[in-house]
Amino acid sequence: MRRIRHFIDGAAVSAQNSAQARFGPVYAPTTGEVQAEVELAEPATLDQAVAAAKIAQREWAATNPQRRARVMFAFKALIEDNMQELAELLASEHGKVVSDAKGDVQRGLEVVEFACGIPHLLKGEYTQGAGPGIDVYSLRQPLGVVAGITPFNFPAMIPLWMASIAIACGNAFILKPSERDPSVPVRLAELAIEAGLPAGVFNVVHGDKAIVDAICDHPEIKAVSFVGSSDIANYVYQRAAAAGKRAQCMGGAKNHGIVLADADLDQCVADILGAAYGSAGERCMALPVVVPVGEQTAETLRARLVEEIAKLKVGVSSDEEAHYGPVVSAQHKARIEDYIQLAVDEGSELVLDGRGFTLQGYENGYFLGPTLLDHVTPQMKSYQDEIFGPVLQIVRAQTLAQAIDLASRHQYGNGVALFTRNGDAARTFASEVEVGMVGINVPIPVPVAYHSFGGWKRSGFGDMDQYGMDGVRFYTRTKKVTQRWPSGGSVTDQSFVIPTMA
Ligand code: NAD
Repeated sequence: MRRIRHFIDGAAVSAQNSAQARFGPVYAPTTGEVQAEVELAEPATLDQAVAAAKIAQREWAATNPQRRARVMFAFKALIEDNMQELAELLASEHGKVVSDAKGDVQRGLEVVEFACGIPHLLKGEYTQGAGPGIDVYSLRQPLGVVAGITPFNFPAMIPLWMASIAIACGNAFILKPSERDPSVPVRLAELAIEAGLPAGVFNVVHGDKAIVDAICDHPEIKAVSFVGSSDIANYVYQRAAAAGKRAQCMGGAKNHGIVLADADLDQCVADILGAAYGSAGERCMALPVVVPVGEQTAETLRARLVEEIAKLKVGVSSDEEAHYGPVVSAQHKARIEDYIQLAVDEGSELVLDGRGFTLQGYENGYFLGPTLLDHVTPQMKSYQDEIFGPVLQIVRAQTLAQAIDLASRHQYGNGVALFTRNGDAARTFASEVEVGMVGINVPIPVPVAYHSFGGWKRSGFGDMDQYGMDGVRFYTRTKKVTQRWPSGGSVTDQSFVIPTMA
């Protein structure tokens, strides 16, 4: 059986005491078979990674930013050269279709491109003559050894959000990827070393809760970036902060797509289908809730959705015609099915039922057909919770204000989209809605790499977003220097008063 090992100091590593080694299964979601096993680290392996990272970081931080940027340029080129291999490997463990897996790699690559501009991004501020003979400047310095903990659903994009900026800023990075699809993160670290990154600057340590706890507690790890479900995000945020670390922890989501009567319906239906069912709904920026405003809008939209959903093709990840593939695990499939049943028990109307779907030749794969539920109400648990599957819920609203209120009051505040031709309504919406990322006729408003990504409420714990300038701020600390040079003039008197600019 293929074994996925840790990647420390530029090499594949296993636990030093093999008798104590633990392993987790890595499934092939299309067949339901175990295709590999991943080592689950104990704290001693983390210590080994931190020790290597600490040594490597000193020299890496002393490497001038332009040279660090050159490594990023080479890393970008290697990811591009290996795109097909990375996408196929990713799809085999995650289950998403290969075309979508390429998008996963590409969105991460775009943050590597952003990190190529690091010399410019790290420039500080300078004030000449802040006082008599006094200049003040600030500079951004790396934190040291930092860590990232990532979810299963974007095994290339999210590690690259974190690693590329952390490393370009002069830190050494320890990645703890999801144990469900751990191969691509290791491959990315290997490519970074191939690109010229010194060994020890990018390490991958696999594991479960035990190693997440050890990361939060480790005194030599200065910052923790986390992306995953909200309860764990909150837990990691609290635990890392209690250990004195900087932490940014992104959580779950339940994004609403609000449709006004004047929307371009054809485009809107196409957008909602892709955003609700793409990647089997396993995206934190998916649109699992659609809110038509007005009964007529609801009836027309529902009819069009039913018509178009019937044309969706569920298939294996290598099927170029498939719109989406299996979900990640048998356990997750069962959880989604339970939520569909709960929605029915709570009184919503099951318009299309994706349960019981099987794909010929892949009967043990974790496939689900598309589900559509109507007359869902805000009191229902199936509406309040994140389902994270190919399930679209229609919640009807009578006014735009009601629709904005729905999205604003939801416990999650990751993304939201409005479909309309009315600029005034769109402006009001963008200004008032209490959600971190807003799309106007854009179903999945993931900001580009040079802006930052982050949700509100239970979708994000901590005050700094991922990538963009917030990424640079997160992985650096500013030093403020106030300087005066001897000018040969008379000695200023002793002063026991706090210096001011008066
Ligand atoms: P998850 O919370 O189960 O796992 C995330 C990470 O936490 C993994 O590395 C996992 O090993 C670790 N982990 C799991 N249980 C733990 C525990 N009890 N203690 C400590 N660590 C633990 O999330 P997932 O199922 O891998 O990913 C899906 C979730 O991630 C969804 O909720 C989705 O919305 C969210 N997500 C959010 C964003 C965002 O940017 N807001 C992006 C992608 C995914």
